[in-house]
Amino acid sequence: MLIDSHCHLNFLDSPNIALAAARMGGVGGFLCVGVDKDGIDDVCALAQDNMDVWASIGQHPNTTEKDLSWISERIAKFESSSKVIALGEMGLDYSQCSDDREEQLRQISCFEYQLALAENLKYPVIIHTRDAEEDTASILENFSSVRGVMHCFTESWALAEKALNLGYYISMSGIVTFKNAGLVREVASRVPKDRLLVETDSPWLAPVPYRGKLNQPLFVTETAKFLANYLDWEMSDFELKTEQNFFRLFTKAKAIP
Ligand SMILES: [Zn+2]
Repeated sequence: MLIDSHCHLNFLDSPNIALAAARMGGVGGFLCVGVDKDGIDDVCALAQDNMDVWASIGQHPNTTEKDLSWISERIAKFESSSKVIALGEMGLDYSQCSDDREEQLRQISCFEYQLALAENLKYPVIIHTRDAEEDTASILENFSSVRGVMHCFTESWALAEKALNLGYYISMSGIVTFKNAGLVREVASRVPKDRLLVETDSPWLAPVPYRGKLNQPLFVTETAKFLANYLDWEMSDFELKTEQNFFRLFTKAKAIP
């Protein structure tokens, strides 16, 4: 079965309609990813209300909230539901602050705080990284017991290789279908099949042929078809392997009966 390993259902106009459409289209699981304190209760509620939705708790690098105590509070609150399966998304995004070391250091401390939490609580992490390869690699190396996924990967093979060596998975979004994304496709072709995940990152980054439209979890089928074709991989095997990869990484997620 196909799993959308990274979506933001709470940012869609009608999460329930989008979920129904995706299920009809053969998508069997959804990891709804938190980015900030304000949205996290919606994220967790979607996971609690839907058997095939899981949640992740964390603060995106572009969110500037300084007090991060809400993260452990929410983990404690939802732990018994066993629907929170990861921490994130967390990481570094220097695309808007390439010359602003102060902002970069703010992101670094927020990232390290969450990695330390993941290390202590033994949760896998969801990493967002843009234009910050050196710092991302050295920070992940400092937390070498933590595992996770490099989500919506668009960086170099060098960074992908370092992450793979640390035990990370690489997730491909609709970007891989874009005409100008040759480098992303090259990375996809080099990722071992037992380390690949697929995602929408909806409502953003709709794949071809929906590029420019609002994205939704159903469209993970387009990215999956594209990738399977590009990698010369039977669709049924692509679905099976990426599902196995998902459950191998997110061990707290129980398979849907
Ligand atoms: Zn995201």
